[in-house]
Amino acid sequence: MIKYLLILLFPIVSFSQNKILHENFFNSYDEFKETSIETRRFKHGEIQPLIDSLKSIKGFEVTLLGRSIQGRDISMISVGKGETDVLLWSQMHGDESTATAAIFDIFNYLKTDQSILKNLKVHFIPMLNPDGAEVFSRRNAIGIDINRDALKLQSPESQILKNTRDSLKAEFGFNLHDQSKYYNANKTDKPATFSFLAPAFNHEKDINESRGIAMRIIVKMNEIIQRYAKGQVGRYDDAFEPRAFGDNMQRWGTTTILIESGGFLNDPEKQFIRKINYTSILSALQIISTENYTNASLDQYLSIPKNDRKLYDLKIKNLSFSYLGIDFTVDLGIQYDEIENTNHSDFYYIGKINDIGDLSTHFGYETLDAAGFSFKVGETYPKILNDFEQFKSLDFPILISQGYTSVTVNNMPKEIKFTSYPMNIIDLEKVVIPKNNVIPKSPIGFGSNPTFLLSKNDKVVYAVINGFVYSLSDNKNNVKNGLVK
Ligand SMILES: [Zn+2]
Repeated sequence: MIKYLLILLFPIVSFSQNKILHENFFNSYDEFKETSIETRRFKHGEIQPLIDSLKSIKGFEVTLLGRSIQGRDISMISVGKGETDVLLWSQMHGDESTATAAIFDIFNYLKTDQSILKNLKVHFIPMLNPDGAEVFSRRNAIGIDINRDALKLQSPESQILKNTRDSLKAEFGFNLHDQSKYYNANKTDKPATFSFLAPAFNHEKDINESRGIAMRIIVKMNEIIQRYAKGQVGRYDDAFEPRAFGDNMQRWGTTTILIESGGFLNDPEKQFIRKINYTSILSALQIISTENYTNASLDQYLSIPKNDRKLYDLKIKNLSFSYLGIDFTVDLGIQYDEIENTNHSDFYYIGKINDIGDLSTHFGYETLDAAGFSFKVGETYPKILNDFEQFKSLDFPILISQGYTSVTVNNMPKEIKFTSYPMNIIDLEKVVIPKNNVIPKSPIGFGSNPTFLLSKNDKVVYAVINGFVYSLSDNKNNVKNGLVK
């Protein structure tokens, strides 16, 4: 009772403290960022030394919970001396690493200040699925989706999570994931950089006290994230999934919050998103420790726009071209697929036309209006180059302005699949001579690699190479990589 009175008496003080704190977390982030992690494709071998180093830090407890199928340690790091147990687990899907990186930033912060935890004891399980992380794939080593194994518990990783929850009887849980960058906040062109869910614990989607608290905490976290990514928060679908961990955690009595890290313009390695994870999770711990969520309403939760999936990397609208003598005007939805190297540590892009037609209901991270431009298929430079070195010395803007989007190269090293240049390479040894008497393909095909030119008054203004735009008018090269075909 006294606790609630205090909250009623000091709401303003507590609000302003929150505000100052999340700004402090955000502004001082660089001091605490774990600099040994810089991309999404880090592996267990890179985080284990960081976990080991925490064993000697005052106030940190490291517990070996068990091992993955392939024998990798799964550890829990606990901080704080309070009565209320909060459990956070990340990367149960091996290719969803953003929150794991943020957790190591949070450790660095907590090394210097644990006062925000007050009455909490916070337990982190970073990288619950290290075998999946090793090959940057969602599932574990035998192909089970851990998030569909909360009931049968067929995998050691699932057993570890369930046993930990049960032994702690955690009052709060954070289920930390990544979602496709193609999700947007419903009916807007804003990516769902974050999506939240207070998972349902039954098919009726009832809201009991525990689930209601999760919703209220989400309202508070949303308010903070709006400061840094305005309009870029979505509400995840709350259909009950009987086999999922979040839903069952809620059913087992842990107030559970699902956070999905999505996409953000020009943040392919999700490092800004990681910073917002850091800011919002630290803020959430402070919000829980001060119970500063009680003034949030369920209506506020429901007013967060739903997640939708209508985003492309690039939308080109009003593109006119002709095929077999027929004129068409269409929109293109272009997606950049990540093609990994063999040890799953890096990638390059292949652009792909993922939809064609009326895409007026869809959006792009970037949009190019092709109205008034004439479409032209890019040509192959007539001279065959002797080797890759010769290719590198070409003047690409000049070649593009002359209408070329590919160059034939002899003696191409077999291991080179892409280059950092805004031009595709045709490997002479792989050249296929087209057959006669075959109906030619459309220059814009579903699933094809978008490479073409847009001209005005016979002058090339834009080249689209491997799905990326090179703007000749201001010499702006957005081509992340060209391909070797
Ligand atoms: Zn996931």
